[in-house]
Amino acid sequence: MNPTVGVLALQGGVAEHASLLEGLGARVVLVKRPEQLEGLDALVLPGGESTTIDRLTRIFGLRQPLIEAISAGLPTLGTCAGLILLARQVEDPAAGQQTLGLLDVTVRRNAFGSQVDSAETQLAWGASGADGAGQLTDAGGQVPVKAAFIRAPIVTQLGQNVTVLARHAGQVVGVQQGHLLGISFHPELTGDTTVHRALLDLI
Ligand code: GLN
Repeated sequence: MNPTVGVLALQGGVAEHASLLEGLGARVVLVKRPEQLEGLDALVLPGGESTTIDRLTRIFGLRQPLIEAISAGLPTLGTCAGLILLARQVEDPAAGQQTLGLLDVTVRRNAFGSQVDSAETQLAWGASGADGAGQLTDAGGQVPVKAAFIRAPIVTQLGQNVTVLARHAGQVVGVQQGHLLGISFHPELTGDTTVHRALLDLI
């Protein structure tokens, strides 16, 4: 049966995730209200502006329902601002910025510089990314992913149960902790389906 995947639709790159997921055969629900979290098989927290998305989750009464649904095991992919939202800690939060605190990592916002430093590149994606410098190698389990970086965060500290799945310029930009995937980059902008298929595989 085709999975039902929610995309948090408060701000940011919602449409690109939705069309990529539909291309993979998913039924997409644009989540703006708590009751839309019911019946989902997976969830995407898109990129955008993490401070805005954080504020809107509280205004729309979604913060606690998101924490409950994701803690209960809903497979969830956070991209860029969505990774920041999932993280346990932000090194350099804006005043009053909160996160859902579910993925056991510390992130640093805008870590590759400003908007003009945005880049498109090819990464090695897979568990052995833990050892490499982000270069594609013959090491088992790694596949190439075309990634766009836009004012991207990096992961600066990893909890015990967190696996590194991708690096860029020596920095950790993709992680997994059980049913949670967090990436700094935007595969939905390059049309690369690898990471979204990894999310659907967690269902
Ligand atoms: N820099 C943004 C933030 O802090 C994230 C950028 C993005 O999602 N592309 O939220």
